[in-house]
Amino acid sequence: MMMRTFRQGFLIALTAVVMGGSLSAAEPLKALIVDGQNNHDWKSTTPSMKATLEATGRFKVDVATSPAKGASKDEWKAFHPEFSKYDVVVSNYNGEGWPASVNEALVDYVKNGGGLVIVHAANNAFESWPEYNDMIGLGWRDNKFGERVTIADNGEVVHTLKGQGPSSGHGPQHAYKVIIRDNEHPITKGLPTEWMHTNDELYHGQRGPARNMHVLASAYSDKAKGGTGANEPMLWVIPYGKGRVFTTLLGHVGGSNNGKTDTRAIRCLGFQTTLARGAEWAATGKVTLPAPTEFPSASEEKLAPEAK
Ligand code: ZN
Repeated sequence: MMMRTFRQGFLIALTAVVMGGSLSAAEPLKALIVDGQNNHDWKSTTPSMKATLEATGRFKVDVATSPAKGASKDEWKAFHPEFSKYDVVVSNYNGEGWPASVNEALVDYVKNGGGLVIVHAANNAFESWPEYNDMIGLGWRDNKFGERVTIADNGEVVHTLKGQGPSSGHGPQHAYKVIIRDNEHPITKGLPTEWMHTNDELYHGQRGPARNMHVLASAYSDKAKGGTGANEPMLWVIPYGKGRVFTTLLGHVGGSNNGKTDTRAIRCLGFQTTLARGAEWAATGKVTLPAPTEFPSASEEKLAPEAK
């Protein structure tokens, strides 16, 4: 366990007590991170996300790891996460299709009130799974796949038709400002309206059915930085059956920063806070986790220290 985990957890728990919350007394929510295949280093990002969630004191996290790419049918038969035992499922998975029974179990779980959180490249997965596309709203797809959603400068949500505008992509990584578009939603309430996210990919042109999608935050995709010149959605929620889905496009890990794997994106306190609050909301429909006292400002990044 890393030192920062204890310190952050303590600070957050302390803040909750001061604010009159009763986090320490509440039974932890049960979260399941699903991984096993990803075009990112899931072996390092899963422990980091687990630590972020558990540091709040609000979650107890298990991990379900799928077979590796190219595994046999028999190996896949052993993969059947018991989604229904959890309050929230966090997908850190971007890889081969799951067995139909696993897909059905996840859809039933969310329909019956389960929470689902999609992190970064997890929205690249499962293009040919219709219910998954409905749950995530937008995925990393070709522009012929479905609609695109952007946010006008006045905050209006703009739908671009299938076939028009860019396909999914991103320019070179850079730090960018995240703009909260709904300050009243439990996940974003109390957070600064503008905050500087650290070096990360800025996904653009995400495509999908985009039904019932409520955008919580966007980021301006600068043409000078390989982007689209539009405000691209970064955080959003979708109700699905009795359940709730939260997507964050933030959180790329890879490449090198001073000779080490660049983990800045998942150490940004903006990423960590919205991940934890998004997971709590997906699990319960409410957020008790307080806005942290340390948070990026509109001009200054704020990162948790590197894991030891
Ligand atoms: Zn990435």
